[in-house]
Amino acid sequence: MNKVPFLDLSALHSSLEEEFVEVFRGSMKSAQFIGGPLVEQFEREFAHMCGCRYAVGVGSGTDALRFALMACGIRAGDMVITVPNTFIATSEAISQAGAIPVFVDVDEKTSAMSSDRLREYLETHCYIDDHSGTTFNKITHKPVAAIIPVHLYGQMADMDPIMELAKRYKLVVIEDACQAHGAEYFSQKNQSWQRAGSIGAAAAFSFYPGKNLGAFGEAGAVTTNDENVARIISTLRDHGQVSKYIHDMEGYNGRLDALQAGILLVKLGHLARWNEMRRESAKRYGELLEKIKGVEIPYEPIWSRGVYHLYVISVDNRNELQKFLTDKGIGTGLHYPLPLHLQKAYCDHGYKAGSFPVSERLCSRLLSLPMFPGLESGQQELVADAVHEYMSISEEKW
Ligand SMILES: *Cc1c(COP(=O)(O)O)cnc(C)c1O
Repeated sequence: MNKVPFLDLSALHSSLEEEFVEVFRGSMKSAQFIGGPLVEQFEREFAHMCGCRYAVGVGSGTDALRFALMACGIRAGDMVITVPNTFIATSEAISQAGAIPVFVDVDEKTSAMSSDRLREYLETHCYIDDHSGTTFNKITHKPVAAIIPVHLYGQMADMDPIMELAKRYKLVVIEDACQAHGAEYFSQKNQSWQRAGSIGAAAAFSFYPGKNLGAFGEAGAVTTNDENVARIISTLRDHGQVSKYIHDMEGYNGRLDALQAGILLVKLGHLARWNEMRRESAKRYGELLEKIKGVEIPYEPIWSRGVYHLYVISVDNRNELQKFLTDKGIGTGLHYPLPLHLQKAYCDHGYKAGSFPVSERLCSRLLSLPMFPGLESGQQELVADAVHEYMSISEEKW
């Protein structure tokens, strides 16, 4: 058994056992397993948490991204801009919507989409058609239709400049908020803190068990302030049904189970506190690790209140450090070890090593340390001591 597990959900859940069992009993008795009042109540409360008018529960974060793209009018052959250092679901959803993923590199400090690289891509590789006002790629002559910034590790991308570029080039912005339930961004433009999921035309959330708000299985949601987008997603998730066996379009089997909605409702009530615990753990890690030579700790800009889905440090000899920690019983993770543009899945997209140097460097240096609500300061000290020990040994070798 790990001395410090990477993630411990059992401890978190055990104090809520009776409430979870009650959800199960209720579901069994009502026999309403898909959709229904629990799903609707969860949608209302989750939308409220995000500072959004609508939330639509779906089957997963990947479904949420795909439905959001489709509902926002992204069509087959469109190009959609995202980043290479994300989970593959982001680009899979783009392809599943019939569109083509294109990547722009990330910011060195935040690891999220760089608005400078986005601007550069739009200015040098795209043009705006005078007639339609649509943005096209200069080489493929395909429309560039949307941007998906990813709020990676629980910290939001710098949204103001992204939204401004989107406006200038008439692009839809869909937030990948799958790691950022409750994260906040201070918008200079609006002079207010804004929640993840409330800024773009729509946003995708995942409730995969390990996320900050996790179900007991697969689940996801789309948030939006646009009634029309919310309505289309409700139809898409349910085979295009507008009423029983009346299908206005072809859709998908992408609904949220009532049981999962019930579990999520119980957990949603604790999300703010759990996120605060994660922030405190992050602060404590910062104090313990910042003095260690060769360790870079996560950077949190003043405009960000992150929810630390992951706590990711950056070091030179990442693989050796990971092995060292594993041998000491400390769980770690790599998010993500190979950027998307270098994955075999995208080998025919024309990218090569060196295409996105910031992402590539990050991928070879990053290491995710144990992070979950309930992580004890003693456990954090064990982790920090082990990192310190390894860094001193590796320094001596030189
Ligand atoms: C988890 C995740 C997804 C996909 O969510 P699923 O619920 O697993 O489909 C998409 N994007 C990011 C950044 C994620 O972390």
